[in-house]
Amino acid sequence: MSGNRSLSLLVGLGLAFARLLCLAAPPLPSIADFDHLADQLDNRDIALASAAETETILARLHALLPPDDEARGLRYRYLNCYLAFSNDAMAGFAYAVQGLQDAGRSGDPEAEANFHFCRGQYREMLSTPSDALADYDAGIELARHLENARLLGDGLTARGDVQSLLGEQAKALLDFLEAQRSYDSAGKTAVGGLNLINIATTYRRLGEFEKARDYLEQSKAFATRRGDTDALLNINMQLGFLAFEDNDAAHAHAPLQRALELSRQMDDRASAGAALLGQAQAYNVEKKYRQAIDALGQAEVEQAAVADVSNAGMNRLQYGIAHAGLGQHADALKDFDAAEKLLTPSNNLRYLAQLYAARAESYETLGKPDAALADLKRTLTAREALASKSRAQYIVPMSYQFDSARRDLEYRRLAADQTLKEQELAALERIRQWQGLAILLGSLLLLLLWFTLRQFHRMRLLNTLAMTDPLTGVANRRRVEHATNREIRQARAEGRDMAILTFDIDHFKRINDNYGHDVGDQTLVRVTNACQAMLRQFDQLGRIGGEEFLVVLPDSQLDAGVQIAERLRASVAALNLDDLAAGLNVSISVGVTQLKPTDSTKALVRRADVALYRAKNNGRNRVEVEL
Ligand code: GH3
Ligand code: MG
Ligand code: MG
Repeated sequence: MSGNRSLSLLVGLGLAFARLLCLAAPPLPSIADFDHLADQLDNRDIALASAAETETILARLHALLPPDDEARGLRYRYLNCYLAFSNDAMAGFAYAVQGLQDAGRSGDPEAEANFHFCRGQYREMLSTPSDALADYDAGIELARHLENARLLGDGLTARGDVQSLLGEQAKALLDFLEAQRSYDSAGKTAVGGLNLINIATTYRRLGEFEKARDYLEQSKAFATRRGDTDALLNINMQLGFLAFEDNDAAHAHAPLQRALELSRQMDDRASAGAALLGQAQAYNVEKKYRQAIDALGQAEVEQAAVADVSNAGMNRLQYGIAHAGLGQHADALKDFDAAEKLLTPSNNLRYLAQLYAARAESYETLGKPDAALADLKRTLTAREALASKSRAQYIVPMSYQFDSARRDLEYRRLAADQTLKEQELAALERIRQWQGLAILLGSLLLLLLWFTLRQFHRMRLLNTLAMTDPLTGVANRRRVEHATNREIRQARAEGRDMAILTFDIDHFKRINDNYGHDVGDQTLVRVTNACQAMLRQFDQLGRIGGEEFLVVLPDSQLDAGVQIAERLRASVAALNLDDLAAGLNVSISVGVTQLKPTDSTKALVRRADVALYRAKNNGRNRVEVEL
C-alpha cells in the first residue's frame, strides 16, 4: 500500500512539475514574431529593395500567421493588399473590396481604414485620381476616431498626393503637414522622412523649384541611408520632372533613367510607365519629337500591362505636342481632343492649361482663328484659376516655414532648459555629499548662479525690448539696420546675392485724418502682419519710420526681390479692414534694389528709397526697381 501511495505521489509530483514547465514556457514565438514583422511593415521600418524581397517578406508574414486569429488574419490581408498587387490593380481592387467587407463584419476599424487606403491606391490607377478621395476620406475619419497617429498620417499622405496632383496645393500641403505632425507625434521617423518627398512634390507644382530641390536632396540622403529603393525611385522621378519643368530638360533624363531602372528592380510597371512618360515630356520640351513618340509608345506598353489609366490624359497631350512639333497638326488635334475628354472630369487645371495652349497653336496653323481664340481664352481662364489658387496657397507654405522655425526655437529652448535643470540637479547632488561648510558654500554658489542667470535674462529681455518696435512687434530701425549690415558682410564673404526693399503706406495721413489715430495704429499692425506672413524664413522685416518699412532679402537677386515685393503689395491691397472702419482700404508702394559690390547699408537703402519715391510718383500701390 505504502509503495503504491509513494508511486502515485511521485506521478502526481511529476505531473505538477510538467504542468509548471508548461506554464513557465514562453508563449508561442510565432505570435510575437508576427506582430513584430507586421509592425515593421506598417511603420515602413523595413525598406523593401526589390520585388523579390517584398514577396519573401510577405511569405514569411504568412508563415507566422497564427491559425484562427481573425484580427491578425485581417492584418496580414491589408498588408498583403498594399504590397502584393502593384502589377494587377484590378485584382488589388477586388481584394480590397473583400477585405473591407470582412473588416466591417468583424468590427475591426483599423483594418477597415487600411482597406480603404488600399482600395484608394488601386482606384487611382483604375480611374481618375479624384475617385480615390472618398476612400481616403473614409479611412482618415476612422483613423481620427481611433486616434492612431501613424494610420492617420498614412491616409493624409495619400489624400494630399491626390489633391496635389489635381492642383489643390493648399489642401495638399495641409494634409502633408498634418501627416508630418502625426508621424512626429507617434515617433515614426521613417515615414516622416519619406513624407518630405510629398512636400517637395507640392512645392514643385507650385513652381517653388528651389524649395522642392532642397526637400528632395534631404529625402534622397535619408532614403539612400536606409537603402529604400521605393523612395529613391520616387525621388529620382521627382528630380526628373523638376528638371524639365524648370526649363532644364537636358538634366531630366539621367534621374528619369534611374527611376526607370529602379522600377524594373521593383518590378513596378506603373512606375516604369510614369518614368517613360516623363522622358517623353522632357523630349518634347527639347523639341525631340520623334524620341518623345518613341518613349510614349514604351510608356503605354508598361501602363497597359497593369491596366494603369491614370496617365492616359497626359499621354495623349504629349502625343499631341509631338505631332504638332512634327507639323502633323490634324493628328495633333485628334490627340488634344482625346486628352481633353480624359482630363476634364478630374478638372486638372495644370494639365488643361497646357493642353489648351498647345491646341490653340495647332488651330492657328490650320487656319482656324476662331477655334484658336477660343482655346486661348480657355488657357487664360485655367491659368487665372490656377494663379488665384496659388495666391491663396502662398499663405500655407509660408505658415509652414514659420511653424517649423518656431518649432526649432521651441526645441532649442526646451533643450536649454533641460541642460540647466540637469546642471542644477548635479550641483544639488554634489552639495548633498558635502557637509557643513560645503552646504553653505554650495548654496551660496547656487544663489549666485541663479542671480547671474536672472540678471542675464533681464538684460536679454531689455535688449529685445530695445530692439523691437512696440506697436507692431517687428524689428525696429536699429535692429533691421544691424541685420542689413550683417547680411551685407555675409553676402560679400560667401559671394552670395542680396536684395532689399523698402515700402511706405500710401496716403496714411488720410487714414489718420478720416478714421482717427487708433484706426491708423491698427492699420499699421495689420499691414505688418500681412507682410510678415508673405516673407520667407530668413527674410527680415523692420519698421524704420512712422509708416515706413525695410525688408532684407538674403540670397536673392533683383527678380526674386521684385516677386516678393509684388507679393507684399498684393496681400496688403487685398486686406479687408471693414472691422476697423467700414470702407477702409490700404495700399503700399514698394522700392526694390540689389546689393552692388561697393554698397554701404546707407547707399543700398537710399537706392531702394529712390525706387520707392518713383513708385509714389507713378501712382502708388505699385513696385519699382532701382538698379
Ligand atoms: P504718401 O502716400 O505720400 O506716403 O502719403 P502719406 O500720407 O502716407 O505720407 P506722409 O509721410 O505725409 O504721412 C505719414 C503720416 O503717418 C504722418 C503721421 O502722422 C503718420 N504716422 C506716423 N507714425 C504713426 C503711428 O505710429 N501711428 C499713426 N496712427 N500714424 C502715424
Ligand atoms: Mg506714406
Ligand atoms: Mg512716409
